[in-house]
Amino acid sequence: MPMNRARHVYLPVVMAVSGLLLFGVFRGLHHQESFTYSRVLMGTVVEITLREDSPELADTAFREMERLTALFSTYREDSELSRINSTAGRPVKVSPEVAELVGLALKVCRLTDGAFDPTVGSVVRFWNFGPGGRIPPEDELKKALSSVGCQNIVLDRDSGRVTLSRKGVSLDPGGIAKGYIVDRALEVLKKRGVRWVIINAGGDVAFYSASPSERFRIGIRHPDIEGRLLGILVVKSGAVATSGDYERYFIRDGVRYHHIIDPRTGLPARGLRSVTIVSGKAYLADALATAVFVMGKERGLKLVEDLDGVEAVVVDEDMRIYTSSGLKDAFTPVEE
Ligand code: ADP
Ligand code: MG
Repeated sequence: MPMNRARHVYLPVVMAVSGLLLFGVFRGLHHQESFTYSRVLMGTVVEITLREDSPELADTAFREMERLTALFSTYREDSELSRINSTAGRPVKVSPEVAELVGLALKVCRLTDGAFDPTVGSVVRFWNFGPGGRIPPEDELKKALSSVGCQNIVLDRDSGRVTLSRKGVSLDPGGIAKGYIVDRALEVLKKRGVRWVIINAGGDVAFYSASPSERFRIGIRHPDIEGRLLGILVVKSGAVATSGDYERYFIRDGVRYHHIIDPRTGLPARGLRSVTIVSGKAYLADALATAVFVMGKERGLKLVEDLDGVEAVVVDEDMRIYTSSGLKDAFTPVEE
């Protein structure tokens, strides 16, 4: 696939331009030259911004992302993830990256008391959040729910094998894989000596500067109005991810059915419009954004306060904004 090289970014605000993208990535205070490269990956436009004009460097990161996507994608029948699912009930030998991803997903599942649960896949596959929309009938949901639960995933790290407990159990990495892949791409670039970079993969952004005093300005999308910002975060090197009810959804009888599922009910989680997580790692920001959305404002913010190095911006159904204590001076709402 050809790579687009965007021209130098002179504007202080770089708005992302895909339906899925949530963030405008703001450049630092100094208008240093930067170069943005983009590629369609993981169902979204991924942008890598560097301070040097190096399509070759960007390509190294894109290739790593492509390699991992081929392992994780449940849209591809020949991926390792698909093989785990089609071989449910028996152990499957997997690549180290797949074992690591499954291990991290299990960790977040425990950490969030099952609000983040990749086995929600058995339910998700009965929903269709496309334009036509499909609400699974109650008996179907009930049956699918009996296969949900992280105890149904067994990871044997020593032998590198993953086993789903029985047929019907399905692993959906959709709430964590994108973040993990962004982390890995960042690692590749850091190993190559990159001293400043932003990787923007739709709702998941990672940014790094070798200078510890550097701050990044990250815009959070307004849940209802594409192109408008809800507010701006000023954060140091790390990652930010947002989950919202406006990404994949359909409306039936005035009710919005979206793709963040409460694993206890099999239904879209209610109460919030969007959750943004700030964390050192993109995988954790990604998975916790999904989990806190499910947990709701009170339980979700309590969890965030209990975790070191994790902060959140939560928007409820009345468009009220709540931030965790560590973001008091770091988040500024955008006035209309
Ligand atoms: P996106 O990937 O669109 O940015 P999220 O990070 O919120 O959005 O992930 C949503 C995806 O995660 C869903 O499409 C589904 O595949 C999966 N998912 C939905 N609910 C849960 C859940 N409670 N725990 C884990 N994964 C979930
Ligand atoms: Mg997520």
